Amino acid sequence: MSVFIPEDSPREECGVFGIWGCEQAQVFTHFGLYALQHRGQESAGIAARVSPTGLRLKRDMGLVSEVFSAEDIVDLESDAALGHVRYSTTGSSSAANAQPLVVRMKSTSVALAHNGNLVNARALREGLESSGSIFQTTADTEVVAHLAARESAKGIREGLLAALQQVRGAYAMVVLTPDGLFAARDPNGFRPLCLGRLGSGWVVASETCALDAVGAVFVRDVGPGEFLSIDDDGLTSGHIGDAVGKPSLCIFEYIYFARPDSDIAGHNVHLVRKQLGRLLARDHHVEADVVTGVPDSSISAATGYAEEAGIPYEMGLVRNRYIGRTFIQPGDALRQRGVKLKLNPLRKVVKDRRVVLVDDSVVRGTTSKILVRLLREAGAREIHLRISSPPYRHPCYYGIDTSARGQLIASERSVEEIRSMVGADSLEFLSVERVAEAAGGDPSEYCVACFMGDYRVPIDPDGDKDSLEGSP
Ligand code: AMP
Repeated sequence: MSVFIPEDSPREECGVFGIWGCEQAQVFTHFGLYALQHRGQESAGIAARVSPTGLRLKRDMGLVSEVFSAEDIVDLESDAALGHVRYSTTGSSSAANAQPLVVRMKSTSVALAHNGNLVNARALREGLESSGSIFQTTADTEVVAHLAARESAKGIREGLLAALQQVRGAYAMVVLTPDGLFAARDPNGFRPLCLGRLGSGWVVASETCALDAVGAVFVRDVGPGEFLSIDDDGLTSGHIGDAVGKPSLCIFEYIYFARPDSDIAGHNVHLVRKQLGRLLARDHHVEADVVTGVPDSSISAATGYAEEAGIPYEMGLVRNRYIGRTFIQPGDALRQRGVKLKLNPLRKVVKDRRVVLVDDSVVRGTTSKILVRLLREAGAREIHLRISSPPYRHPCYYGIDTSARGQLIASERSVEEIRSMVGADSLEFLSVERVAEAAGGDPSEYCVACFMGDYRVPIDPDGDKDSLEGSP
């Protein structure tokens, strides 16, 4: 059965950062967003508490370095702020969808920012619209804002809690009001969110690398289903509701998405990736002269592979650092060009050699196909492609953008068919058990839906009419 993903499906890859009780909070937020830039490169925004009752917002399309001028940072001067970086699919790639979203609720300004994807957003939106709500964006965050506004008679915190009890799916959400900062993680904990201390203030961020960037001390991960309220009296922790989901941290955060210097659930991302490479070498050894990785995300796995296999690691591809992630440019034509512009083989390293090329994932197959060709043109004698994750067969509905099923090269093909399409001499993937093992657990503790199709939070039948495949 084919999976239908609507053009305007607001699946998002994002990073969130919130801070309370620190002078120059907007500067820290700006730093935090730089550290989270890898999580989204299409738009960036900061909402800051600029007076005891007011928020100021600056957001736009572009990289963090492009969106904020020095004057903006001065204008946003505050002791509490919320920041967001975002990437979305083509249909919803517009300035109106940039975050944070700022709305008025009970005569108070409320800024919301979120990472993830709500699987019942469309159904909720239709319900809200039919009872009179008018939406200005196609982002899931606005659905939460509307729900919270309707339930806010007893206060914004109560409104948010009531809203979050109605949404299903993946979210790490941070909300700023002039009176407090709130942070919530969905009951399955699909997307990461951590808590830190900065002096007497508090910081929440998608990844610990953002805490490091501002000099905050890591306190702990926000737990699945946890709801944090932070204000001048301190921090209180509660639960979104009674529903406890099966712990389902996205395993792709370890494989590709998060930064190597971040720790998630106590595991350092680089070390997990290195272990993925070691296990890959153990399971899929090949006689070769040199191991190389696709920079930057696969270097950790490639060094692990080289160490375990006893084959020297070499820099076989050089990445142009001034171009964003290939994938993070909507549209196929651009994506293809992007790879060539971005990665150049080192001829003298690969010429006449048997090369193990380690990559962290194969999604559409575009990168592998082009790199195999580039390495051959550079004179490599053999190219053995080793992937430090299983074949990516099923679209993600929980916040990683990986297109419709038909575009996934592994969705209907065997490993041998993929090998022949990308033109490698050999191709091997790592098993899902091995990936979970490297992350210190077993597959039941992670969301592995992209590999196995076992969606733990069912996809909304009203939102995605043809797409029930894989739902439990
Ligand atoms: P593809 O070229 O479509 O097969 O994508 C695989 C390549 O893109 C690999 O080199 C990955 O490191 C990278 N990649 C995988 N998933 C994503 C994603 N969600 N966003 C951006 N890049 C990705």
